[in-house]
Amino acid sequence: MNLSDLSKLTEDQSREMLERIRWPNGPICAHCGCMDNITAIKSTKRPGLYRCADCKMQFTVRVNTVMHDSHLPIRLWLMTFSIMCSAKKGVSALQLQRQLGLGSYKTAWHLCHRVRHAMKQEPLKGLLTGVVMVDETYVGGKPRKFYKNKRPRSHLPLKVGRGTKKIPVVALIERGGRARAHVVPNVTAKVLKASIRELVDTSSTIMTDQFKPYRGIGEEFAGGHKTVNHGEGEYVRWENGEKISTNEAEAFFALLKRGITGSFHSVSKKHLNKYCDEFSFRWSLRKITDGERTFKAIVASEGKRLTYKVPVADVRDAPF
Ligand SMILES: [Zn+2]
Repeated sequence: MNLSDLSKLTEDQSREMLERIRWPNGPICAHCGCMDNITAIKSTKRPGLYRCADCKMQFTVRVNTVMHDSHLPIRLWLMTFSIMCSAKKGVSALQLQRQLGLGSYKTAWHLCHRVRHAMKQEPLKGLLTGVVMVDETYVGGKPRKFYKNKRPRSHLPLKVGRGTKKIPVVALIERGGRARAHVVPNVTAKVLKASIRELVDTSSTIMTDQFKPYRGIGEEFAGGHKTVNHGEGEYVRWENGEKISTNEAEAFFALLKRGITGSFHSVSKKHLNKYCDEFSFRWSLRKITDGERTFKAIVASEGKRLTYKVPVADVRDAPF
């Protein structure tokens, strides 16, 4: 399943493909989950309509997914899934609008937003295990404004990282495995340790740099807490044959930041978590093909109907 194949599909073929992905063993009622008494209804107005004899309700393959209530052709949905699952550094709504020839930026923005919602990793639940690298960084934020008469310390380098007003993000990365990242209100011990407790299995080993707030977390994990001293320029250290580093967390942040500055230019605090979900999804599934990743995102769109209307203001201040 690649983009050029998808672009050639008719709407019927696209729908059939979506049905095969979502229902490999035949249609499942979107209302009661039953599979046994489903009949296809021949309807020219609503192709792909099914009826469940158990609950007497009708449904299509879009019902109860992020595609629910959408009037866009399924082909465009499949193409958006494919583009967003393949682009390592993400795709902006503007880019998507151009690539798919969509009529409006708003439409493209809604598509991106919903696919990102499908990528939210709720269905892949399960705590992180093994070696888990934890790191925090600061993302985005508008450049500081300087006025000619108010630059008392302009000779000093711009402050970056801890202590600036950018948005703090924490990432937890399994060595060779899955990623979780989210916005945090601050990087105090209370907040960082709460993130670790929430997402990491207690059998794990925690690896961080020597940032003070992480101190003491090892007591709660069977593998303990190992640190590297970034201040001393130490990025990898070996202890009894075990590699201690936070390299993968740093690589994740590098990708996230390149994506945000390169593809999205800027991201508001409100939306940053969604980008974290999107980047975590691709990272966690980076070892499979683009097609397989697309497939997984489509399957994950189930039960993720966005029932609220995204306010217009959200579109206006959307990053692009
Ligand atoms: Zn039913």
